[in-house]
Amino acid sequence: MSGEFVSGLKCRLCGKRYPKEALNFCTEDFGPLEVDYNYDEVAKVFNRQVIESRPRTMWRYRELLPVDGEPTVGRHVGGTPLIKADRLAKALGLSELYIKNDAVNHPSLSFKDRVVAVALSKAVELGFETVGCASTGNLAGSVAANAAAAGLNAYVLIPDNLEQGKVLGATIYGAKVIAIQGNYDHVNRLCSQIAFRFGWGFVNVNLRPFYAEGSKSMGFEIAEDLGWRIPDNVVVPMAGGSLIGKIHKAFKELERLGLVTGPVNTRMHGAQATGCNPISNTVKTDALKVRPIRQPNTIAKSLAIGDPADGYFASQLIRDTGGWSEDVDDEAIVECMQLLAETEGIWAETAGGVTVAVARKLIEQGKINRDGSTVLCITGNGLKTQEALVDKLARPVVIKPNLAEFEALVGAEARDLASSTA
Ligand SMILES: *Cc1c(COP(=O)(O)O)cnc(C)c1O
Ligand SMILES: [Zn+2]
Repeated sequence: MSGEFVSGLKCRLCGKRYPKEALNFCTEDFGPLEVDYNYDEVAKVFNRQVIESRPRTMWRYRELLPVDGEPTVGRHVGGTPLIKADRLAKALGLSELYIKNDAVNHPSLSFKDRVVAVALSKAVELGFETVGCASTGNLAGSVAANAAAAGLNAYVLIPDNLEQGKVLGATIYGAKVIAIQGNYDHVNRLCSQIAFRFGWGFVNVNLRPFYAEGSKSMGFEIAEDLGWRIPDNVVVPMAGGSLIGKIHKAFKELERLGLVTGPVNTRMHGAQATGCNPISNTVKTDALKVRPIRQPNTIAKSLAIGDPADGYFASQLIRDTGGWSEDVDDEAIVECMQLLAETEGIWAETAGGVTVAVARKLIEQGKINRDGSTVLCITGNGLKTQEALVDKLARPVVIKPNLAEFEALVGAEARDLASSTA
């Protein structure tokens, strides 16, 4: 099927070409490998009409996803809502704001289902029966869920300090969940050794070039749902720094294929937590190299990658597109989780608080123009990071089951409300 559209893998540093295999770095210079396409071939069959005739999943863009033949894993992933967020726009002082809500992605409630759908479909094509990942939480749940549905064995490795919702949300699917005494960078290093020793398909290690392409579908959907338009600003939470680059790559591919009118001049903005800010720090200090954070410390655990694999490319992209990057502390994260919930009815995980809080900061700094169109990428669900809120929100008022107590309570509240609006 779409196999003919992928020409192979290519080193992002030296351009050396490799066949479509489970390989993630160049043997010459250890540069990361990326999937390359025959865009002329894609252009012959891929147009708005074809796309719009297909089901609303990420696979409606399958000619630009690196799977040969029909996808076998994660066939229902994607197609999440793009919401015009007028109440949040008003609170932030923007004229045109949208939320891409991957907190409700199927099946595991984060954007990671997109990358896993591609990686595991590819794993099946390449003949792997056992798959795995190094995860900060959401990838664990997604690999476990999608592997279960596909009948694959899954080994999921995580740092030993993750939220209960993330741990249960991987274990329930029957995956082998292994907590490592250390941070994500320790987990990731071990996974590279395991993938090599056991010959398994690790979605974000040896299958990484394929995995990463799945993130483009978020960009395709944003453009299509804007009426085949490219926004002026996009704010993206960054962990390893892959998603932000792939959303931009998606816009460029649509431009190249004539599906949107260019030029693409979206400013790409990156969001991190102050407790783990290797990429935003690189941008803010105008450094050439990313300095790893040895001991990440933030409630935004899904973003806590101290030594980000794509940090260098992410910081370059942010500079090249005229965007910016900021980081925010735990207090601002919780405050903006509440702001998003109270204005738009969306309960995002801590990473969503990071995105909204960074957007607010960039608007105040004038890095995001108030009269342009802006998209915030919400990438994970609040149910999975309840610890961040437990002691922060008001507890329910407890009353006896009789009307007099209710009237006493609500009457007082109603009186307060009346006097405060008078
Ligand atoms: C993994 C993740 C990201 C960012 O992913 P990268 O591509 O590694 O930068 C953003 N948000 C959430 C909730 C995630 O789990
Ligand atoms: Zn190379």
